[in-house]
Amino acid sequence: MSGGDKLDFEIRPNPAPVSVADRAALLANPGFGRVFTDHMVTIRYADGKGWYDARVEARAPIPMDPAAAVLHYAQEIFEGMKAYRTGDGGVTMFRPEANAARFAASARRMAMPVLPEQTFVDSLHRLIEIDRDWIPEGEDGSLYLRPFMFASEVFLGVRPANEYLYLVIASPVGAYFTGGVKPVTVWVSPDYTRAAPGGTGAAKCGGNYAASLVAQAEAIEHGCDQVVFLDAVERRYVDELGGMNVFFVYDDDSVVTPPLTGTILPGITRESVLALAADAGHRVEERPVSFAEWQADAASGRLREVFACGTAAVITPIGQVRFPDGEFLIGGGDPGRVTMSLRQKLVDLQRGRTSDPHGWVHRV
Ligand code: PMP
Repeated sequence: MSGGDKLDFEIRPNPAPVSVADRAALLANPGFGRVFTDHMVTIRYADGKGWYDARVEARAPIPMDPAAAVLHYAQEIFEGMKAYRTGDGGVTMFRPEANAARFAASARRMAMPVLPEQTFVDSLHRLIEIDRDWIPEGEDGSLYLRPFMFASEVFLGVRPANEYLYLVIASPVGAYFTGGVKPVTVWVSPDYTRAAPGGTGAAKCGGNYAASLVAQAEAIEHGCDQVVFLDAVERRYVDELGGMNVFFVYDDDSVVTPPLTGTILPGITRESVLALAADAGHRVEERPVSFAEWQADAASGRLREVFACGTAAVITPIGQVRFPDGEFLIGGGDPGRVTMSLRQKLVDLQRGRTSDPHGWVHRV
Protein backbone atom coordinates (compact mmCIF):
# COMPACT_ATOMS: atom_id res chain seq x y z
CA MET A 1 0.00 0.00 0.00
CA SER A 2 1.13 3.53 -0.61
CA GLY A 3 -0.27 7.02 -0.89
CA GLY A 4 -3.82 7.46 0.33
CA ASP A 5 -4.95 3.78 0.27
CA LYS A 6 -6.50 2.65 3.49
CA LEU A 7 -4.61 -0.09 5.28
CA ASP A 8 -6.72 -2.74 7.02
CA PHE A 9 -5.50 -4.25 10.24
CA GLU A 10 -5.57 -7.98 10.80
CA ILE A 11 -6.58 -8.53 14.42
CA ARG A 12 -5.00 -11.55 16.12
CA PRO A 13 -6.08 -11.48 19.78
CA ASN A 14 -3.52 -12.59 22.34
CA PRO A 15 -4.36 -16.22 23.18
CA ALA A 16 -2.84 -15.88 26.65
CA PRO A 17 -3.69 -12.40 27.99
CA VAL A 18 -2.83 -11.34 31.54
CA SER A 19 -5.55 -12.51 33.94
CA VAL A 20 -8.11 -10.03 35.25
CA ALA A 21 -6.71 -10.36 38.78
CA ASP A 22 -3.08 -9.89 37.68
CA ARG A 23 -4.04 -6.91 35.55
CA ALA A 24 -5.86 -5.29 38.48
CA ALA A 25 -2.75 -5.77 40.63
CA LEU A 26 -0.52 -4.22 37.95
CA LEU A 27 -2.90 -1.28 37.46
CA ALA A 28 -2.98 -0.55 41.19
CA ASN A 29 0.56 0.85 40.98
CA PRO A 30 1.80 0.94 37.40
CA GLY A 31 4.60 3.53 37.85
CA PHE A 32 5.93 4.75 34.51
CA GLY A 33 6.88 2.62 31.52
CA ARG A 34 7.34 -0.77 33.14
CA VAL A 35 3.94 -2.41 32.70
CA PHE A 36 2.65 -3.21 29.21
CA THR A 37 -0.67 -4.26 27.72
CA ASP A 38 -1.47 -7.58 26.02
CA HIS A 39 -1.15 -6.39 22.43
CA MET A 40 0.92 -4.36 19.99
CA VAL A 41 0.52 -3.02 16.47
CA THR A 42 3.03 -3.92 13.78
CA ILE A 43 3.22 -2.64 10.20
CA ARG A 44 6.01 -3.43 7.78
CA TYR A 45 7.48 -1.32 5.02
CA ALA A 46 9.70 -2.23 2.09
CA ASP A 47 10.81 -0.05 -0.81
CA GLY A 48 8.77 -0.90 -3.88
CA LYS A 49 6.07 -2.56 -1.79
CA GLY A 50 5.08 0.24 0.57
CA TRP A 51 3.30 -0.40 3.88
CA TYR A 52 1.96 -3.92 4.37
CA ASP A 53 1.05 -6.58 6.94
CA ALA A 54 -0.72 -4.24 9.39
CA ARG A 55 -1.56 -6.27 12.48
CA VAL A 56 -2.76 -6.07 16.03
CA GLU A 57 -1.20 -9.06 17.75
CA ALA A 58 0.11 -10.37 21.06
CA ARG A 59 2.87 -8.20 22.48
CA ALA A 60 6.07 -10.19 22.12
CA PRO A 61 9.82 -9.76 21.54
CA ILE A 62 10.69 -8.91 17.96
CA PRO A 63 13.36 -11.01 16.25
CA MET A 64 16.19 -8.80 15.06
CA ASP A 65 19.20 -9.54 12.90
CA PRO A 66 22.47 -8.27 14.42
CA ALA A 67 23.06 -6.31 11.22
CA ALA A 68 19.67 -4.53 11.35
CA ALA A 69 20.52 -0.97 10.33
CA VAL A 70 18.92 0.66 13.39
CA LEU A 71 21.42 -1.06 15.70
CA HIS A 72 24.29 0.66 13.91
CA TYR A 73 23.12 4.03 12.63
CA ALA A 74 20.12 4.74 14.87
CA GLN A 75 17.56 5.36 12.15
CA GLU A 76 14.65 5.40 14.60
CA ILE A 77 11.80 7.73 15.54
CA PHE A 78 9.00 7.58 18.07
CA GLU A 79 6.00 9.35 19.51
CA GLY A 80 4.49 9.61 22.98
CA MET A 81 0.84 10.26 23.75
CA LYS A 82 -1.89 9.16 26.10
CA ALA A 83 -5.41 7.72 26.21
CA TYR A 84 -7.55 8.81 29.15
CA ARG A 85 -10.58 7.40 30.87
CA THR A 86 -13.44 9.87 31.15
CA GLY A 87 -15.90 10.14 34.04
CA ASP A 88 -18.70 8.65 31.91
CA GLY A 89 -16.78 5.43 31.18
CA GLY A 90 -15.53 6.63 27.78
CA VAL A 91 -11.98 6.92 26.50
CA THR A 92 -10.30 9.91 24.88
CA MET A 93 -7.12 10.64 23.00
CA PHE A 94 -5.73 14.14 22.82
CA ARG A 95 -4.74 15.50 19.39
CA PRO A 96 -3.48 12.22 17.87
CA GLU A 97 -3.42 13.84 14.43
CA ALA A 98 -0.80 16.28 15.79
CA ASN A 99 1.36 13.33 16.84
CA ALA A 100 0.79 11.80 13.39
CA ALA A 101 2.01 14.99 11.73
CA ARG A 102 5.07 15.20 14.01
CA PHE A 103 5.85 11.53 13.35
CA ALA A 104 5.74 12.25 9.62
CA ALA A 105 8.03 15.27 10.07
CA SER A 106 10.47 13.17 12.14
CA ALA A 107 10.43 10.48 9.42
CA ARG A 108 11.31 13.03 6.74
CA ARG A 109 14.19 14.39 8.80
CA MET A 110 15.59 10.90 9.35
CA ALA A 111 15.21 9.90 5.68
CA MET A 112 12.52 7.35 6.53
CA PRO A 113 9.28 6.57 4.69
CA VAL A 114 6.22 8.50 5.88
CA LEU A 115 3.44 6.40 7.38
CA PRO A 116 0.13 7.87 6.16
CA GLU A 117 -1.18 10.03 9.01
CA GLN A 118 -4.58 8.34 8.96
CA THR A 119 -2.92 4.93 9.36
CA PHE A 120 -1.00 6.27 12.36
CA VAL A 121 -4.23 7.46 14.01
CA ASP A 122 -6.06 4.23 13.07
CA SER A 123 -3.28 2.14 14.61
CA LEU A 124 -3.79 3.91 17.95
CA HIS A 125 -7.54 3.37 17.82
CA ARG A 126 -7.12 -0.35 17.10
CA LEU A 127 -4.72 -0.85 20.01
CA ILE A 128 -6.83 1.14 22.49
CA GLU A 129 -9.96 -0.76 21.45
CA ILE A 130 -8.40 -4.15 22.14
CA ASP A 131 -6.50 -3.11 25.30
CA ARG A 132 -9.14 -0.76 26.69
CA ASP A 133 -9.30 -2.57 30.05
CA TRP A 134 -5.67 -1.59 30.63
CA ILE A 135 -6.47 2.12 30.97
CA PRO A 136 -6.15 2.96 34.67
CA GLU A 137 -8.97 4.70 36.54
CA GLY A 138 -8.34 7.84 38.50
CA GLU A 139 -7.09 11.35 37.94
CA ASP A 140 -3.37 10.59 37.49
CA GLY A 141 -3.76 7.39 35.50
CA SER A 142 -3.63 7.04 31.73
CA LEU A 143 -2.51 4.67 29.00
CA TYR A 144 0.77 5.86 27.52
CA LEU A 145 0.99 5.02 23.82
CA ARG A 146 4.35 4.58 22.18
CA PRO A 147 4.33 4.44 18.37
CA PHE A 148 7.81 3.97 16.90
CA MET A 149 9.55 2.99 13.70
CA PHE A 150 13.04 1.76 12.92
CA ALA A 151 15.26 0.62 10.06
CA SER A 152 15.03 -3.17 9.97
CA GLU A 153 16.99 -3.76 6.80
CA VAL A 154 19.92 -6.16 7.25
CA PHE A 155 22.71 -4.07 5.77
CA LEU A 156 25.76 -2.25 7.12
CA GLY A 157 26.03 0.41 4.44
CA VAL A 158 25.51 3.98 5.60
CA ARG A 159 22.43 5.07 3.66
CA PRO A 160 18.68 5.23 4.34
CA ALA A 161 17.43 1.66 4.83
CA ASN A 162 14.88 0.17 2.46
CA GLU A 163 12.96 -1.82 5.08
CA TYR A 164 11.28 -0.56 8.23
CA LEU A 165 9.09 -1.79 11.03
CA TYR A 166 6.44 0.43 12.66
CA LEU A 167 5.03 -0.63 16.04
CA VAL A 168 2.78 0.70 18.75
CA ILE A 169 3.02 -0.55 22.31
CA ALA A 170 1.02 0.72 25.28
CA SER A 171 1.84 1.11 28.93
CA PRO A 172 -0.54 2.02 31.76
CA VAL A 173 1.03 4.81 33.82
CA GLY A 174 0.50 6.79 37.00
CA ALA A 175 1.96 10.27 37.57
CA TYR A 176 5.34 10.92 35.87
CA PHE A 177 6.78 12.88 38.78
CA THR A 178 5.88 11.00 41.93
CA GLY A 179 4.35 12.99 44.78
CA GLY A 180 1.59 14.69 42.79
CA VAL A 181 1.83 18.23 41.46
CA LYS A 182 4.76 19.63 43.32
CA PRO A 183 7.28 22.02 41.85
CA VAL A 184 10.38 20.41 40.40
CA THR A 185 13.99 21.55 40.53
CA VAL A 186 15.90 21.91 37.28
CA TRP A 187 19.61 21.87 36.46
CA VAL A 188 20.93 24.21 33.78
CA SER A 189 23.61 22.21 32.01
CA PRO A 190 26.84 24.19 31.63
CA ASP A 191 28.54 21.70 29.30
CA TYR A 192 26.06 19.70 27.31
CA THR A 193 23.75 20.91 24.59
CA ARG A 194 20.89 19.01 23.01
CA ALA A 195 20.67 20.11 19.41
CA ALA A 196 22.47 22.43 17.04
CA PRO A 197 20.99 24.44 14.16
CA GLY A 198 20.60 22.12 11.20
CA GLY A 199 20.61 19.07 13.48
CA THR A 200 17.81 16.79 14.60
CA GLY A 201 16.45 18.74 17.58
CA ALA A 202 12.96 19.11 16.12
CA ALA A 203 12.67 15.39 15.31
CA LYS A 204 11.61 12.86 17.89
CA CYS A 205 14.43 10.41 17.22
CA GLY A 206 16.02 8.08 19.74
CA GLY A 207 19.48 9.57 19.18
CA ASN A 208 18.42 12.90 20.67
CA TYR A 209 17.57 11.13 23.90
CA ALA A 210 20.74 9.03 23.95
CA ALA A 211 22.68 12.30 23.68
CA SER A 212 20.73 13.87 26.55
CA LEU A 213 21.19 11.09 29.10
CA VAL A 214 24.55 12.18 30.46
CA ALA A 215 23.18 15.69 31.04
CA GLN A 216 20.10 14.29 32.75
CA ALA A 217 22.34 12.11 34.93
CA GLU A 218 24.31 15.24 35.87
CA ALA A 219 21.02 16.94 36.82
CA ILE A 220 20.15 14.03 39.13
CA GLU A 221 23.64 14.16 40.69
CA HIS A 222 22.92 17.77 41.56
CA GLY A 223 19.62 16.83 43.21
CA CYS A 224 17.50 18.05 40.29
CA ASP A 225 14.59 16.40 38.50
CA GLN A 226 15.30 17.55 34.95
CA VAL A 227 18.00 19.15 32.85
CA VAL A 228 17.55 22.49 31.06
CA PHE A 229 19.41 22.81 27.77
CA LEU A 230 20.74 26.13 26.51
CA ASP A 231 21.21 26.84 22.82
CA ALA A 232 24.24 25.16 21.23
CA VAL A 233 25.65 28.26 19.52
CA GLU A 234 25.93 30.87 22.28
CA ARG A 235 25.01 28.81 25.38
CA ARG A 236 22.86 31.75 26.23
CA TYR A 237 19.20 31.10 25.38
CA VAL A 238 16.93 28.54 27.00
CA ASP A 239 15.94 25.79 24.57
CA GLU A 240 13.97 23.19 26.53
CA LEU A 241 14.19 20.47 29.16
CA GLY A 242 15.32 16.88 28.56
CA GLY A 243 11.76 15.81 27.82
CA MET A 244 9.58 18.91 28.14
CA ASN A 245 9.11 22.41 26.80
CA VAL A 246 9.35 25.42 29.09
CA PHE A 247 7.11 28.45 29.72
CA PHE A 248 7.65 31.71 31.61
CA VAL A 249 4.84 33.75 33.20
CA TYR A 250 5.50 37.43 33.95
CA ASP A 251 3.91 39.92 36.34
CA ASP A 252 1.98 41.51 33.46
CA ASP A 253 0.35 38.08 32.97
CA SER A 254 2.18 37.47 29.71
CA VAL A 255 3.06 33.86 28.90
CA VAL A 256 6.30 33.29 26.99
CA THR A 257 8.00 30.23 25.48
CA PRO A 258 11.08 29.85 23.25
CA PRO A 259 10.32 29.84 19.51
CA LEU A 260 10.50 26.78 17.25
CA THR A 261 13.78 27.36 15.48
CA GLY A 262 14.52 23.74 14.66
CA THR A 263 16.53 22.95 17.79
CA ILE A 264 13.63 22.18 20.14
CA LEU A 265 10.89 19.60 19.92
CA PRO A 266 7.60 21.16 18.79
CA GLY A 267 5.63 19.87 21.76
CA ILE A 268 1.94 19.23 21.31
CA THR A 269 1.36 20.29 24.91
CA ARG A 270 3.36 23.46 24.16
CA GLU A 271 1.15 24.31 21.19
CA SER A 272 -1.98 23.54 23.22
CA VAL A 273 -0.82 25.70 26.14
CA LEU A 274 -0.17 28.62 23.77
CA ALA A 275 -3.78 28.34 22.56
CA LEU A 276 -5.27 27.85 26.04
CA ALA A 277 -3.32 30.79 27.44
CA ALA A 278 -4.51 33.00 24.58
CA ASP A 279 -8.10 31.79 25.16
CA ALA A 280 -7.71 32.78 28.83
CA GLY A 281 -6.75 36.32 27.81
CA HIS A 282 -2.99 36.12 28.37
CA ARG A 283 -0.64 37.83 25.98
CA VAL A 284 1.33 34.93 24.54
CA GLU A 285 4.72 35.31 22.96
CA GLU A 286 7.19 32.95 21.33
CA ARG A 287 10.56 34.59 21.79
CA PRO A 288 14.06 33.69 22.95
CA VAL A 289 14.62 33.92 26.72
CA SER A 290 18.22 34.04 27.90
CA PHE A 291 19.35 32.36 31.08
CA ALA A 292 20.70 35.73 32.29
CA GLU A 293 17.24 37.25 31.79
CA TRP A 294 15.64 34.29 33.59
CA GLN A 295 17.89 34.89 36.62
CA ALA A 296 17.48 38.67 36.63
CA ASP A 297 13.69 38.57 36.24
CA ALA A 298 13.35 35.92 38.96
CA ALA A 299 15.41 38.16 41.26
CA SER A 300 13.39 41.29 40.51
CA GLY A 301 10.08 39.45 40.87
CA ARG A 302 9.00 40.33 37.35
CA LEU A 303 9.09 36.62 36.52
CA ARG A 304 6.30 35.06 38.54
CA GLU A 305 6.09 31.47 37.36
CA VAL A 306 7.96 28.97 35.22
CA PHE A 307 6.58 25.63 34.18
CA ALA A 308 7.50 22.61 32.12
CA CYS A 309 5.02 20.87 29.85
CA GLY A 310 4.75 17.65 27.90
CA THR A 311 2.59 14.57 27.52
CA ALA A 312 4.17 12.73 30.42
CA ALA A 313 4.50 15.65 32.83
CA VAL A 314 1.33 17.50 31.68
CA ILE A 315 2.12 20.93 33.21
CA THR A 316 4.57 20.87 36.09
CA PRO A 317 5.70 23.96 38.01
CA ILE A 318 9.42 24.66 38.19
CA GLY A 319 10.18 25.87 41.70
CA GLN A 320 13.94 26.00 41.80
CA VAL A 321 16.77 26.44 39.33
CA ARG A 322 20.34 25.23 39.92
CA PHE A 323 23.47 25.89 37.92
CA PRO A 324 27.18 25.54 38.71
CA ASP A 325 27.43 29.01 40.29
CA GLY A 326 24.32 28.92 42.42
CA GLU A 327 20.59 28.48 42.61
CA PHE A 328 17.43 30.53 42.82
CA LEU A 329 13.71 30.11 43.47
CA ILE A 330 10.78 30.99 41.25
CA GLY A 331 7.77 32.52 42.98
CA GLY A 332 9.03 31.40 46.40
CA GLY A 333 9.18 27.81 45.13
CA ASP A 334 5.40 27.31 45.22
CA PRO A 335 3.14 26.37 42.28
CA GLY A 336 1.89 29.49 40.53
CA ARG A 337 -1.69 30.53 39.90
CA VAL A 338 -1.43 30.72 36.11
CA THR A 339 0.45 27.41 35.96
CA MET A 340 -2.17 25.59 37.98
CA SER A 341 -5.07 27.18 36.15
CA LEU A 342 -3.64 26.22 32.72
CA ARG A 343 -2.96 22.74 34.03
CA GLN A 344 -6.56 22.35 35.17
CA LYS A 345 -7.89 23.58 31.82
CA LEU A 346 -5.70 21.12 29.94
CA VAL A 347 -6.52 18.14 32.19
CA ASP A 348 -10.27 18.89 32.04
CA LEU A 349 -10.09 18.95 28.26
CA GLN A 350 -8.07 15.74 28.00
CA ARG A 351 -10.53 13.95 30.24
CA GLY A 352 -13.52 15.17 28.24
CA ARG A 353 -14.89 17.29 31.11
CA THR A 354 -15.17 20.62 29.27
CA SER A 355 -16.24 21.80 25.86
CA ASP A 356 -13.62 21.38 23.17
CA PRO A 357 -13.66 24.49 20.98
CA HIS A 358 -10.45 23.50 19.18
CA GLY A 359 -11.68 19.97 18.31
CA TRP A 360 -8.68 18.36 20.05
CA VAL A 361 -10.36 15.45 21.78
CA HIS A 362 -10.89 12.10 20.00
CA ARG A 363 -13.39 9.72 21.58
CA VAL A 364 -12.34 6.11 21.17
N1 PMP B 1 10.58 18.28 24.44
C1 PMP B 1 11.11 17.04 24.42
C2 PMP B 1 12.58 16.90 24.22
C3 PMP B 1 10.28 15.92 24.61
O1 PMP B 1 10.79 14.69 24.61
C4 PMP B 1 8.90 16.12 24.80
C5 PMP B 1 7.99 14.94 25.01
N2 PMP B 1 7.51 14.42 23.80
C6 PMP B 1 8.40 17.42 24.78
C7 PMP B 1 9.27 18.48 24.60
C8 PMP B 1 6.94 17.69 24.93
O2 PMP B 1 6.24 17.25 23.80
P1 PMP B 1 4.70 16.84 23.91
O3 PMP B 1 4.00 17.96 24.54
O4 PMP B 1 4.29 16.61 22.51
O5 PMP B 1 4.67 15.61 24.73
